[in-house]
Amino acid sequence: MSHIYLDKEKGVNPVIVPCANPECKEGAGIAMLGINGYMATCQKCGKVSIGVGKLTSTCLNCKARALGNHVELTNKNMPPIEGFCNSCKKKIEDEVKAGGIYYRCLKCGSQGVVKRDADISIEIRKKVAAPDPVGVELPDCQYCQGEGDAA
Ligand SMILES: [Zn+2]
Ligand SMILES: [Zn+2]
Ligand SMILES: [Zn+2]
Repeated sequence: MSHIYLDKEKGVNPVIVPCANPECKEGAGIAMLGINGYMATCQKCGKVSIGVGKLTSTCLNCKARALGNHVELTNKNMPPIEGFCNSCKKKIEDEVKAGGIYYRCLKCGSQGVVKRDADISIEIRKKVAAPDPVGVELPDCQYCQGEGDAA
């Protein structure tokens, strides 16, 4: 996206993009959304399109004109579209080299590292030895399993 279409009220409409590591409080960047300050869910493919206009109906993923449930993007609900902040990237790479594994949660989209001493890391590291990078996709994670309670 090389052009920003200014929103009448919010101008460039900057929204903080959080770090993909849910334990990190740093932002990974700032998105200038302009009028495209919404995310919406495709009724056809089920994927969420991020950074669309209030009336946009075309899915960014499958191109069907089937977007619905438009939600305004804010500093609170912005998904981590830029990945990790620089300090997490370094920390996570170091842990993976030492025997940890990358993970991505399919449910909430959070990413990070499973520490080297966790059962799943030990199991996977029998197949792909450190320091080679390896990752898993999880159906859910500690952050979306227990929404609300302090795990
Ligand atoms: Zn779609
Ligand atoms: Zn971070
Ligand atoms: Zn999750």
